[in-house]
Amino acid sequence: MNATTAIDIEKIRAQFPVLHQKVNGKPLIYFDNAATNQKPKQVIDALSKYYEGYNANIHRGIHTLAEKATKAFEETRHAMQQFVNAKHVEEIIFTRGVTESINLVASSYGRAFLKEGDEVIVSGLEHHSNIVPWQIVCDEKKAKLKVIPISEIGEFNIDAYRKLLSTKTKIVAVNHASNSLGTINPVKEIIHLAHDAGAVVLIDGAQAAAHLEIDVQDLDCDFYCISSHKMYGPTGTGILYGKKHLLEKMPPYMGGGEMIKEVTFAKTTYNDLPYKFEAGTPNIADVVALKEAVNFINSIGKDQIAEYENDLLAYAVEKLSAIPAVRLIGTSKNKVAVQSFVINGIHHFDIGQMLDARGIAVRTGHHCTQPLMDSFGIEGTVRASFSIYNTKEEIDELIEGIKRIVNFMKP
Ligand code: PMP
Repeated sequence: MNATTAIDIEKIRAQFPVLHQKVNGKPLIYFDNAATNQKPKQVIDALSKYYEGYNANIHRGIHTLAEKATKAFEETRHAMQQFVNAKHVEEIIFTRGVTESINLVASSYGRAFLKEGDEVIVSGLEHHSNIVPWQIVCDEKKAKLKVIPISEIGEFNIDAYRKLLSTKTKIVAVNHASNSLGTINPVKEIIHLAHDAGAVVLIDGAQAAAHLEIDVQDLDCDFYCISSHKMYGPTGTGILYGKKHLLEKMPPYMGGGEMIKEVTFAKTTYNDLPYKFEAGTPNIADVVALKEAVNFINSIGKDQIAEYENDLLAYAVEKLSAIPAVRLIGTSKNKVAVQSFVINGIHHFDIGQMLDARGIAVRTGHHCTQPLMDSFGIEGTVRASFSIYNTKEEIDELIEGIKRIVNFMKP
């Protein structure tokens, strides 16, 4: 069945209150989904239900509200376990999101197990949050950071990757899908090759969570990172999935309440997984509401979502390609619904501002991927990223806006 007909787009849009407003006098067209996507009513309602009905600190309370809050919090852990198909629920650690998840692994696993001369491999497609934490730990441990080059269409060069792998490689950290270009990386093959070399693999799933099926057991990745706010959930939370045997041997990342078994001034013993990595009061309300984001995605199904969004992407690419002044950046066949582009002679910030005047929200700049922009010889792009609530009519508006900008700016 054609996804466009199978999905009731008006019914989906009705679930997103934020979409129904005017910006600069025009109906909002939200194409900044790769930065953060919008929240359905059930997620927003879960936040107020929590604060109005059972706000309490979790785990140590014996009163009714504390038990209710703890139950709801732990239900999300189970929901996320199923969402990524983890074998054990204690392999799901709540963090503030992908950035913190990667920093946790770099600080804990990296500090504990990297030695002088070891190597960490990242790709040229990475977000700064999957580069800088590795630079910090490599500096500290005198390890080397190696980079897999990216082709001119924005794809991972698998042969170059094979050549970089050696017995010195201890960690490979790559994204599942690129935020700037949308490229979906061949993560299963990347993981398999890294394991053959004896390295562990971290996958940055920020751009995959709302779009692609994630099965950490099938992928056999060692770590997988997700941000809630990029999968219709609230900001300020996310998960780190880690294989149990690795998390068990890793030292704590932060010290404090919750992550301990017993504290004396002579010696402290640490809590079991997952609490060993969850020091302090977590972001309870947002974790609770994240379960509703999972329910929202499951109610449509990742296959349907991908089919619908791919159709939007193909439509946008066709229309953008027909504008001679537009240069598409990132043209892999295998992408999530993200399209970056530049227009010769017009700065991306100006394009973003002029589109905003028409109520169209796109992202402009380097998208926290400066090395990737360098490899294309550009400073930044305009990025339109699509979601399940976007429509072809909205893409027509974008195209009309771009055509007017090109005409207006003609010398
Ligand atoms: N990696 C990728 C690929 C991303 O797109 C982002 C967010 N733009 C991040 C990491 C960082 O995620 P967060 O800001 O949610 O921690």
